[in-house]
Parts: sequence; structure tokens; C-alpha cells
Amino acid sequence: MTVVPTAELTIDLGALAANYRLLKSRAAPADCGAAIKANAYGLGAERAAPTLFAAGCRHFFVAVLGEAVALRATVPEAAIYVLSGPLGGDEGEFRAHRLIPVLNSRPQIELWRRWCAAEGPAPAALHLDTGMSRLGLSPAELEWFIGDAALPGAIPLPVILSHLACSDEPAHALNREQLTRWRAALDRLVPLLPKRPIRSFANSSGIFLGPDFHFDLARPGAALYGINPLPGASNPMRQVIGLKARILQTRHIDQGQAVGYGAHRSSRATRLATLGLGYADGIPRSLSHVGAAYVGGIRAPFVGRVSMDLITIDIGDVPPHLAEPGAWVEILGPNQSADDLGAAAGTIGYEILTALRRRYQRTYLAAE
Ligand SMILES: *Cc1c(COP(=O)(O)O)cnc(C)c1O
Repeated sequence: MTVVPTAELTIDLGALAANYRLLKSRAAPADCGAAIKANAYGLGAERAAPTLFAAGCRHFFVAVLGEAVALRATVPEAAIYVLSGPLGGDEGEFRAHRLIPVLNSRPQIELWRRWCAAEGPAPAALHLDTGMSRLGLSPAELEWFIGDAALPGAIPLPVILSHLACSDEPAHALNREQLTRWRAALDRLVPLLPKRPIRSFANSSGIFLGPDFHFDLARPGAALYGINPLPGASNPMRQVIGLKARILQTRHIDQGQAVGYGAHRSSRATRLATLGLGYADGIPRSLSHVGAAYVGGIRAPFVGRVSMDLITIDIGDVPPHLAEPGAWVEILGPNQSADDLGAAAGTIGYEILTALRRRYQRTYLAAE
């Protein structure tokens, strides 16, 4: 079957590896792992993980067990952590695939302890909530854990982690508050453990909060994939993804002519191009009227609503020879990052990346 793609996603594995090396050097002497949940934030975990492993990454964090099982085949030697932890009945899968559950609550610790007592000790990571109220042991649960003399020895805990809520706002007071609570918890907990654990605290933006936040192991996700870890400042990361769409058709329209669903009325007489991608490909419908593509570096605003499979753009300011049917138009690239597109859509770059759908032709540029 010959398929001519209407939209193409390019993933630059060399840029991914370079981003890993930059983050690792910023976190040094701490080690650097990778959050690779949600299919490596939409980029494709089966290609991203071996690239990161080759760049030196040995610790991979995913959200759910299914992601971890799939990842195991691509990085046989790495430590893989499952952030949602065991849910009951799935404990054997962790051992079968050598996966490390993150224990987030007293019930999860009790579940894992029972399983270890019956089946033999199996390593887990312990997550302490220091200010997010999402996952992780509450202060009361930590007291319970510390108060049970047999417990710290009952489960091997190679890693202890906590997660920052506001690391992308360096001046936010919660960053220091979480750091203080994290240090206080470690001071009490670590001496009780038979082996000194790896302490993991910083996500992408947390690495840039400075050495106080680094501890032993950083866990960046977004910055690896090109998202700016320093919102408002220039992005130190390389762009990893490019997305281009093909012009399917062009036409002249009059001022006031109806365009697309809901009959948007064009504010001027101009040329329109129709692109072969839409919200079914993960381009948010909230970009209707406000998004833009780039043609030869020139901004071509979206006109009217984003459809399921189509977007119309105003190419009135673009030299006609650049915008013929069949020509490629930039959606993500040098002129527009995932952060930019997210901001225009009223969301964040993270959501743009994780929304990228399967229908694109995907091209991976190999890391050297
Ligand atoms: C997603 C996630 C990360 C990575 O965060 P980024 O902001 O993408 O760097 C790290 N730790 C935990 C617990 C996470 O859920």
C-alpha cells in the first residue's frame, strides 16, 4: 500500500539525547533519570527509552503498570518505577518484569508488606507527600510508618521520592516549604532503613531551582522532550519534535464568505489553504480562530473552527509558490514550539505533546 501522508511528526532522537546530557550535567553530581510516562509524553517510549539509556539514563518512571511492562522489553537493564504503585492482584507482575512499584499510601505499603511476607522481599520506592495532596504518604502516614519498628526492614526501599508542585515558579514559597518538609522527613526516615536509599526530588524545573533541590536522582520529563523548564525565560532545551501538515487545497474567498463549521465569516478577501489534520490528531479545537501555522516562516492564522481532520489557514500574506496544494506547512517547529501552541490553546506544552495521535506518519531521526 502506498500512503502519502497528510501530516508528519518528526522526532529528533539526537536532540532528546542532548537534552538528557544537559539535564544530567545541570543535576550533577546527582544522577538523572527520566519520566517516560504517557508514551514518553507522546513521542514514543519504545524509541525514546533506548535513546535515553544509550545516553546514560538508568532510572525510568512511568505512571501505570502496563506502560512499565511494555517498556521492559526496550530497556532490559534499567530500573523501571511505576508511580501509581500496586493496586492489589497485580503484585506478581512487578516481580515477573523486575519493576519497582512506588508505594504512595498506608494501604499500598500494607499490600506490599503482605506480599513480601508471603513471596519474599521485593523492592519498592516510597513516595512522601510534601505539599501536593495528590499521591504520597501524608504526614500522619509517615508517623505510622516510622512508629512501626518492624516496617522499615520489612520492605527493601532502594528509592524515596517526593514531587514538587510549583517548581516552574522559582519564586513560589512552596518550593522551599516542600524542601524543608522533605529534609525533615528524610532525617527521621533514612536512619531507620537498613540500606541508605536513593533520594529523588527534582522534576525538570526542579533541576533549575539549584543544587539544594538535586539530592541523589532527578526525574525530568518535559524538558527532555523540549518543553521549557524555565517559563518566561529563554528555553535551554533543544526542540525534539516537528510537526508539519500538507496543504490539500487552496482557494480565493471574498470578505464575509462562510468558512468551515458554524459558518465563520472571513474578515477579508484572501486566499485560504486547507490542511490535512485536525482535532482527531490532537490539535486542540480551542485553537479555532486563534491558532496559526507557518509557511516559509510567515504566520498563517487559522480561519474559523478546527475540524476533526481539517484546518483552514489564511495564506493571503504568503508568496503563492510556497502555498500550493501538496506543500508542507509548519505546525510545530522553529517558528512555533509546543509551549507556544499550548499557550495559544489555553493549555500547556505538556498537553500538546501527550495529545499527539497515532494517525501521523512518524519519522525518527537517529541519535548519533
Ligand atoms: C511527571 C512526573 C515527573 C516529571 O515531571 P516534569 O515536570 O515533566 O519534569 C517527575 N516525577 C513525578 C512523580 C511525576 O509524576
